Amino acid sequence: ALQARSVHKSFVSGHIQNTVLHDLTLDMRAGELTLISGPSGCGKSTLLAILSGLQPADAGEVRALGHELSGLSMRELEAFRLQHTGFVFQGFNLFPALTALEQVELPLSYMGLDRNVVRKRAMESLEEVGLGPRMRMLPSELSGGEKQRVAIARALAKQPELLFADEPTSALDAANGQIIIDILHRIARAHGTTVLCVSHDPRLVHHADRVLAMEDGRILSDHVPPASLATATEHP
Ligand code: ATP
Ligand code: MG
Repeated sequence: ALQARSVHKSFVSGHIQNTVLHDLTLDMRAGELTLISGPSGCGKSTLLAILSGLQPADAGEVRALGHELSGLSMRELEAFRLQHTGFVFQGFNLFPALTALEQVELPLSYMGLDRNVVRKRAMESLEEVGLGPRMRMLPSELSGGEKQRVAIARALAKQPELLFADEPTSALDAANGQIIIDILHRIARAHGTTVLCVSHDPRLVHHADRVLAMEDGRILSDHVPPASLATATEHP
C-alpha cells in the first residue's frame, strides 16, 4: 500500500547540512499497524511527513496507493492527502469551540460530502472509538484520552487508506495509551487501513504487527514483535 525507495532528506542551515534520512527503504502492507520507535531527532516525524506527502523527499521514491508522490502537482497532492490520508498528533489539535461531533464533521465537509453523509459518518466514527455518548461535548469537557479518541475519529471518518499517528499516546497515561493503540489496531484490521504510528512507549510494542527501530535516519531493525498481542487483542 505504501512504499519508500531510497528516500533521502536533509536540512541545510547556514553551511551545515543535516542529513535526516539516509537512503531509507520501506514497504508497508494494507491492514498492518507498524510502530516506529527511536531516539529524539532520529527522523521519525520527518519520515511520517514524507510518507504522507506533507513534505517532499530530496531523492528517492514514495509510492502510495499506486501514486508516485513526487509526480503529483501541489493541488493533486493536497487532494490525495484529503481523500486518502488521516493524521493524528500528540497534542490532539482540536478546536476549543467545537463539539466532538463538529470536529469530526469538519474535514468531511471539506471533502464535499453530502450533509447527511457527513453527519452519519461522523457519528459512526465517534461510536467506533467509544465516544457516542460524548459527541456533544467540547474539548474542555473531555479527558486527554477522550480528546485523542476524538482526533482519531476525525481521521477515521475520512475512511483513509493510510493513517499516520505521531506519538499519539505520549500525552496520556499508560491505560489511555493502551486504549488508543488498541483502537488503532482495530482500525487497521476492520478497515484494512495501513497504520503507521510513531511512539517511544515500549509497552505499546506488543500491540503492533511490526516494529521499526530507527536511529540517525536509518532503520536499524524491522521485526514482528515477540509475543505479539496484536492477534490476541483482536477479540477482546
Ligand atoms: P522526536 O522524537 O523528538 O519527535 P524525531 O525523530 O521525530 O524526534 P524529526 O522531527 O524527524 O525527529 O527531526 C529529525 C532532525 O531533522 C532533527 O535534527 C531536526 O532538527 C531536523 N529537522 C526537522 N524538521 C526540520 C526543518 N523543517 N528544518 C530544519 N531541520 C529540521
Ligand atoms: Mg517527532
